[in-house]
Amino acid sequence: MVHVAAVESRIREAERRAGRPAGAVVLCAVTKTFPAEAVVEAATAGVTHVGENRVQEGEEKRPEVERLGGGGLRWHLIGHLQSNKVRRAVETFDVIETVDSVELADRIERIAAELGRSLEVLIQVDLGHEATKSGAERSDVPAIAERLQRCEHLTLTGLMTVPPFLDDVELVRPYFRELRELRDELNATVCVERPIHELSMGMSHDFEVAVEEGATIVRVGSAIFGARG
Ligand SMILES: *Cc1c(COP(=O)(O)O)cnc(C)c1O
Repeated sequence: MVHVAAVESRIREAERRAGRPAGAVVLCAVTKTFPAEAVVEAATAGVTHVGENRVQEGEEKRPEVERLGGGGLRWHLIGHLQSNKVRRAVETFDVIETVDSVELADRIERIAAELGRSLEVLIQVDLGHEATKSGAERSDVPAIAERLQRCEHLTLTGLMTVPPFLDDVELVRPYFRELRELRDELNATVCVERPIHELSMGMSHDFEVAVEEGATIVRVGSAIFGARG
């Protein structure tokens, strides 16, 4: 039993509250730790984007999902990408949401060129400064964006963040707002010619607040699939 419809209707409610058009936000179903069968079930319920945080798990699951009839999905890498896994990530994913340095951008571009692949990318921004979380410093983001916009095989579409987990979701709101402001700043400076749109932010416990603050992609796992083991 996957709860896609319930999550979709909560997204639509939040869009309405915020005065945003219906369908402004895409649901990326986070399928880490859940089996291929659950991914296919979510696809049958209307999911079109899925997210995995580990390269190896995505690499194993995607062919299995496709064998079971779950084709046509867009696979997002939402976890930290180590440079020695770039080749496998480029082979498996359609969207890499976790570019966090110029060096990583260069490496992804070089390997995408070698493999003749085109990918969508987002820059992961570290706003909470927790020891366990990755992402680029806010001050490094313009240089990374500039570099990505010159990569022939990569299309920079936006920013992603994983804010601190706080029980009171109102305390998370400023992080979502900060990501939106950073996007708008980039669009007024280094991204004037090719503005970026996507804001990937919001998880099971805080996605409604993220939608109110302008999320265009929410990454939701446990609210759809249940608790992870
Ligand atoms: C696991 C994960 C999610 C989804 O978390 P839930 O709380 O299960 O919705 C979203 N984003 C990232 C980066 C994750 O690793």
